[in-house]
Order: sequence, then C-alpha cells, then structure tokens
Amino acid sequence: MKILVPVKRVVDYNVKIRVKADGSGVELANVKMSMNPFDEISVEEALRLKEAGKASEVVVVSIGPAKAEETLRTALAMGADRAVLVETDELVEPLAVAKILKGVTETEQPGLVIVGKQAIDDDSNQTGQMLSALLGWAQGTFASKIELGADKASVTREVDGGLQTIAVKLPAVVTTDLRLNEPRYASLPNIMKAKKKPLDKKTPADFGVDTTPRLKVLKTEEPSGRKAGVKVKSVAELVDKLKNEAGVL
Ligand code: AMP
Repeated sequence: MKILVPVKRVVDYNVKIRVKADGSGVELANVKMSMNPFDEISVEEALRLKEAGKASEVVVVSIGPAKAEETLRTALAMGADRAVLVETDELVEPLAVAKILKGVTETEQPGLVIVGKQAIDDDSNQTGQMLSALLGWAQGTFASKIELGADKASVTREVDGGLQTIAVKLPAVVTTDLRLNEPRYASLPNIMKAKKKPLDKKTPADFGVDTTPRLKVLKTEEPSGRKAGVKVKSVAELVDKLKNEAGVL
C-alpha cells in the first residue's frame, strides 16, 4: 500500500512571530521556516508503517513556493521515497489545498493519506477533514495510534474525554496528533542521499484548482500584553477580590 503525506512549510515553531507594520499579516522575510511539526509526525508514522512491512511506498507532497522543496527534501532525508511539489506563490487556503490534494490522491492512488491535525501558522484544522469529504473516504482525526489491517485501520483518537478507538474503512484519511510518535532526525548521509531522490513539479492548474482566496484578512494584530498578577494572603481575600473587583462571583 502506498501512503501519501502532505507536508507544509511554515514558520519554525521556535520563532517569535512578528506582525507586519501595516497589519496585513505576519513577517515572513528572513524568518526560519520548517516542516509543520504535525507533518513530521505524519512522515514518521508513514515510515514506521513501511518499516513494519505494512506499506510499500511513502510519497510526500507540498503546496507552496519553490522553497517548499527544502521541506520536501527534509521528508525525503527522513526516509520518504518520492516527492511532489505543487508550486505556487499564492497563500493557499485549506479548501484549495484539499482540492489539490484530492487531485494528487487521484493520480497517486494511495491506500492511506496521513495529514497533520493542523498547520501551526493558520491553525485551521480543516484540510484533512475537507480532503476526506471531497474524496468520499473515511476519516480518523487526531490519531494517537494507527494500526493497519488489510481493508481497515484501527485509529485511536484523542478526544475531549480521553481516547476513542474506531475502525476506519480503507482507503482513508487520518490526521495526526502530538502523541502518535516522536519523529526521527535526518542523518547527514540521508540528507545527502535525499538530494538525488525523485521530486515531481506540478502547479495547481494541473489539477484544475483555482487558488484565489475566498477569505479576506481584515487585520492582523499582536495579542495585548497580560497584566501582572497579584498574590493574595487568604481564600477570604481571593473571594472578596473575585466578588468586588473582578465581579465574576
Ligand atoms: P490546516 O487545515 O491548514 O490546519 O492544515 C492541516 C494539515 O493539512 C497540515 O498539517 C498539512 O498536513 C496539510 N496542509 C495544509 N496546507 C498544506 C500545504 N500548503 N501543503 C501541504 N500540506 C498542507
């Protein structure tokens, strides 16, 4: 079975985000970019399934600018077999990403698509669910465990009340949660080898997808700073403050 893993190039999670002076978005110039952390978990899971003999090939795909090739090369260095770059300089919203991924899925015919639960730049948490709906495939979201069978997968999901295990008919879309695994680092020899692995280039138009934004960003602003807290000496003082100062009791 082939596994398809979408990987997004996002601002590195260690970077302190700065809003552009004109409020039109966040500053991306000269900022360190990396693979979305949930997508690293997806790549790791696909590789583990391949190493366990449950999958035959791991294909990674990214939709983004030419530089997204670096992100794909990282996934190839981790161990993925092949990459597809769907190149565009536009900011592509989750629905258009899902439509492009549907096109890639129809070409590649994987038995499983492992998508990150959310991209840490837009925090949408939409693409996997939309892809599953567009394909008419089953979905298992927020997975902390995946077991592949012949025609179905058992997916343990992180839900509000704890864990829920469901059977998902294959082919399916699964989205990854943090506790699924700890992604490996790419070794230097593998980084060198990844430079020679196959990478196909496409455009959104190849899949007949119009990426014109449907959403309008009105303003981007930093959250206001927090006020310093105060220490109280007793429960009585706390209750008094909650009643008479905060007005929440
Ligand atoms: P989102 O719905 O934007 O929070 O993204 C959820 C997941 O969809 C990410 O973790 C990726 O696996 C996938 N995804 C979103 N945008 C892209 C993109 N431009 N290229 C590849 N995968 C993407």
